[in-house]
Amino acid sequence: MTEPAEPHAHQHESLPVAARVRRLEERVIAAGLTTDAEIDELLTRFYADAAPVNGARIVARAWTDEEYRDRLLADGSAAAAELGFGPQTSGFQLRAVANTPGRHNVIVCTLCSCYPLSLLGPSPSWYRSLAYRSQAVREPRAVLAGFGLDLPATTRIDVWDSTSEIRYLVVPVRPAGTDGLRPDELAALVTRNGLIGTAAV
Ligand code: FE
Repeated sequence: MTEPAEPHAHQHESLPVAARVRRLEERVIAAGLTTDAEIDELLTRFYADAAPVNGARIVARAWTDEEYRDRLLADGSAAAAELGFGPQTSGFQLRAVANTPGRHNVIVCTLCSCYPLSLLGPSPSWYRSLAYRSQAVREPRAVLAGFGLDLPATTRIDVWDSTSEIRYLVVPVRPAGTDGLRPDELAALVTRNGLIGTAAV
């Protein structure tokens, strides 16, 4: 025996995520658990703090400190916490994957759009698109070429599928001719796409 479906169930499921989130917010506010002002304040603080400069700082440190690089690749969350990003990475396990001349890494979330937002900033719309999510795994070389990143046929490409529990950060290859640069200058070279793997740096 199955219960008759709740009349609004289908309508509810088909609502866009933003509308469902808003509905949840309204219920939490109506229950007296928080206020619009509190939610706005929290989101403002979160987004002010969530930027690719965070991921770039981690990369610059890995480029200049071999031991830090080893720790980062062994345990991304602990290494991020070392640089003060503990609170930003507390809700998931961070895994750093390093590019080398013979190996390139790229991240995707085939299910939705999981991504270490606090270290990379808000995800770009192409990252959330069905086209990227479906093609990145099947034909990564073509997808990367679409970003203007033409890798030699000898370069192996590893695609990492993020989940809400495990999120990835790509450590690009340090560009040649950057020996004299300070860590902040190195960090300025790193782009969000570089941290996703759709750009070289
Ligand atoms: Fe996701």
